[in-house]
Amino acid sequence: MISDPINMSENAEPSPAPVKQPILEMSERSLIHWMTEHDFPKYRAKQILTWIYQKRADDFQDMSDLPKDMRVLLAEHFSIFTSKTAETQHSEDGTEKLLIELADGGRIECVLLRDGPRRSICVSSQVGCAMGCVFCASGLDGVDRNLTRGEILEQMLRLQKLLEPEERLSHIVMMGMGEPLANLPRVLDALDVARDGEIGLGISPRRITISTVGLPTAIDKLAEENAPYQLAISLHAPNDELRTRLVPVNKKVGIEHIMDAADRYFEVSGRRLTFEYVLLKDLNDSPLCAEQLVKLLRHKTAMLNVIPYNPVPGLPYETPTPEAIHTFRRILMDGGINVMFRQRKGNDIQAACGQLRRLREREPQMVTLQVAENSVGNTAIAETVDGEE
Ligand code: SF4
Repeated sequence: MISDPINMSENAEPSPAPVKQPILEMSERSLIHWMTEHDFPKYRAKQILTWIYQKRADDFQDMSDLPKDMRVLLAEHFSIFTSKTAETQHSEDGTEKLLIELADGGRIECVLLRDGPRRSICVSSQVGCAMGCVFCASGLDGVDRNLTRGEILEQMLRLQKLLEPEERLSHIVMMGMGEPLANLPRVLDALDVARDGEIGLGISPRRITISTVGLPTAIDKLAEENAPYQLAISLHAPNDELRTRLVPVNKKVGIEHIMDAADRYFEVSGRRLTFEYVLLKDLNDSPLCAEQLVKLLRHKTAMLNVIPYNPVPGLPYETPTPEAIHTFRRILMDGGINVMFRQRKGNDIQAACGQLRRLREREPQMVTLQVAENSVGNTAIAETVDGEE
């Protein structure tokens, strides 16, 4: 039997659509290179990036000062967003949380906090987290992978799009899911765009905070890079025995080495350090812990942020009593520590780091638990930005 060439072509598999390049993964330099390769003037690269980062465009067709044929070609070659927003939660206090589904199905969270004129965002750096802090929902299942530069930037852009046209992002905290210093090159790449006033978001580095559990080698690397960001170290305990129980990675590191690295960072950057301390009932909220903290921090140019814990469904930790909080605060203040007790934000949504992702992965059982306990919030979205104007 002779094959019919027409029917053959009808039955053939359609050729797959060309894979588009995520434009957020590209630097201005590489976009300029693409422009010259396609006989477009170099200045078009800056125009496009300004549309994306400053004019909040998420479609090449909206870039009205570009030639029409160029917009079509861009849309054929590039994608702007590669993920989708799986869920948005709104808090009564103005906090909004996004659950983002990445192209490979991984899920991360990011948060917009409204506080007076501030529009702060809390951004994730990894899918999951390997640090294993016992009170944190993000680390319960370990780490899947690092986020790319584009995936970090995409969170910032998605949160920026929640603002009114006249509002601007003012602060960034790398304190969402993951340990930013375990993904340092991609984090620094994304933050370069965040602080770029010409084509990027134009956020002052003084208003950008990198939060870490304290990885001394990476802190030194950050200092070497002369990265002008605020450093916040999540301490959570004043001695190694307790800290290793709460932040297991501490076993390999030790508080002394973290403090030494923090001092070196301060020497190089001149920036006041911030330490974070989540206060957990009957674990790290004793007067003895407060006294040990005073010894650890009293000679440092540092701010201590204390955040009373809010329970996370499925975890056994509790908020300290008002009396314990009061005594803890008094000992620190009497010891001359520069301390702030931070307000939690997003108290009526699943705003604690990793909590929403975990909740959605375990539905329906966890939803029932969540409603019953009406619990929320923790360190990741507490008002943590510090040392900025
Ligand atoms: S608190 Fe931060 S470092 Fe610790 S497990 Fe959670 S995301 Fe990771």
